[in-house]
Amino acid sequence: MIHEIAPQSGQSFKVKKNTFLKIICPEGEQVADLVAYSLHDLNEFISNGKTLDYEENIYLTTGNIIYSNRSSQMLEIIEDTCGRHDFLLAPCCQNTFKKIYNITEKHPSCRENLYLSLEKYGIREDAIPTAFNVFMKVDVDNTGKISVLPPTANPGDYIVFKAHMDLLIGLTSCSAEQSNNYSFKPIQYELLG
Ligand SMILES: [Zn+2]
Repeated sequence: MIHEIAPQSGQSFKVKKNTFLKIICPEGEQVADLVAYSLHDLNEFISNGKTLDYEENIYLTTGNIIYSNRSSQMLEIIEDTCGRHDFLLAPCCQNTFKKIYNITEKHPSCRENLYLSLEKYGIREDAIPTAFNVFMKVDVDNTGKISVLPPTANPGDYIVFKAHMDLLIGLTSCSAEQSNNYSFKPIQYELLG
């Protein structure tokens, strides 16, 4: 069954150990922020620092593993038709829109959509880690300068993760203009046995 996350919104759900999560970009050029917590201890969650250290690359794709803050394997990328994602930047939030876009009025954000989806499990706003930003294109040049570019995902591109533990997942259709080439599209996901 394919679930759909409407533009600029988020959902939460559980994924059992040794099952699969497929995330689809139905219209192309749309980022999905993914956070994951150990279902049995919510103080264990995905860590970009541990993952980039162990995988020795900032660009993760098929064969790479996402590790927790306790160095456990959480998710393994087993299929990836897009091939370009980001694990450097934290979820967009109200301050992102103020600092980068000079928007002061209320703006939807991944951080808010993540914690509002996850609060029924006891996750607070400050417990939202740096997300694995599915389909997000962030370039780093040889001076270290970072650029957020339009996603390379074409309509129908997808990524499949294998869960290495029982997980609580938060997933969004990202709300940031620059990350999504200035138009907001849905994201789809499927839980596979
Ligand atoms: Zn976002």
